[in-house]
Amino acid sequence: MPVAFYRHPLQASDSEKIARVLDTPFLTSGQIGRQVEDQLCGFFDVPHALLLNSWTCGAHAALLALDVGPGDEVIVPAMTFIATASVVEHVGAKPIFVDVDPATLLMTPDAVAGALTDRTRAVIPVHIYGQMVDMIGLREVLSGRPDIAIIEDAAHAFESERDGMRPGACSDIAIFSFYATKNVTCGEGGAMITRSAALHEKLVQTRLHGMTSDAANRYKSGQYRHWDMARLGAKANLPDLLAALLPDQISTVRDRLPERARLADRYLKAFENTPLRLVGRIGNAVHAHHLFPICVPADLRDRAIQELNTAGIGVTVNYRAVTRMSHYRSQFGNLDSSVPVSTEWGEGTLTLPLFPGLTDDEQEEVISAVLEKVVPLIG
Ligand SMILES: *Cc1c(COP(=O)(O)O)cnc(C)c1O
Repeated sequence: MPVAFYRHPLQASDSEKIARVLDTPFLTSGQIGRQVEDQLCGFFDVPHALLLNSWTCGAHAALLALDVGPGDEVIVPAMTFIATASVVEHVGAKPIFVDVDPATLLMTPDAVAGALTDRTRAVIPVHIYGQMVDMIGLREVLSGRPDIAIIEDAAHAFESERDGMRPGACSDIAIFSFYATKNVTCGEGGAMITRSAALHEKLVQTRLHGMTSDAANRYKSGQYRHWDMARLGAKANLPDLLAALLPDQISTVRDRLPERARLADRYLKAFENTPLRLVGRIGNAVHAHHLFPICVPADLRDRAIQELNTAGIGVTVNYRAVTRMSHYRSQFGNLDSSVPVSTEWGEGTLTLPLFPGLTDDEQEEVISAVLEKVVPLIG
């Protein structure tokens, strides 16, 4: 039986929601998006939320709002998706790669402390796989540096919590992704939240070309009003056509989490006494269980993927270390020895199917294939 890596939760009946937008004169960012932003404010208990067409464009807008640019450094983990680093270069700043904790694959406050320089202007902690970085510890190492902003990469962490705090509680901005495979999705999209009114005001502009007024406001009174370009901005707004898919997903995301947790626990139990390397769990936390990666010795990883694919099982890799990508190799040279944990994990990891709707039979198939085809390779 083939097992897909992922099946999204949207259905043909969701097209009703899009049809309702098509029935209005307004297709781009308008009333529906505003309602979803209010819903996000309620969900995260923050005063400001802005919908985005992607995490990536939103992070670009966030860095512009924070005036991060040429000559500045932004600290990012080497174990993440490439966008965490590439957005830094889009504003002309330099990504400074730090390594991650070998048990949890999370960026550590100590690593950030060791990478700080006079030029550091921002840090982007990544809540990888669904567990959060130690935000209290991070705040502590940055306590003497009010010139450094914290932008959370919360693409995996919509439902996450650590030490009683959720994304947005301990940072300047937290950014989510609603990309096709994320726990909340509208195909492509994202959102950012902030507690700062001053920052929100700038983000409203940098999300949309740096303009002083969005399309909905420009035509509000039925009379055209001039707008100005106040600063350099990105193009990161989400159209209502896609925003319409979000309210139900946001209101049900917590109901889906126990099923994600149950599936993740079943994997954990099946693999705990094998030589597979698994991600350690942190205490006093809510895990969003976005992904379930396993890790084998580097020389066996591609063989393991091949074995699973041959058995009909969809797998992917999250992630080869950003520093191993050709682009970063050509920019910064070989950084393997400065981020050894990210490098080693990145060369050995592969991710198994994990989504609500994965049946127990399908998961059994995955578990059997791993135990029978992958584990014996390690010997
Ligand atoms: C998906 C993802 C992104 C990028 O999100 P987009 O919405 O596709 O731009 C960034 N960081 C992490 C950790 C991700 O998983």
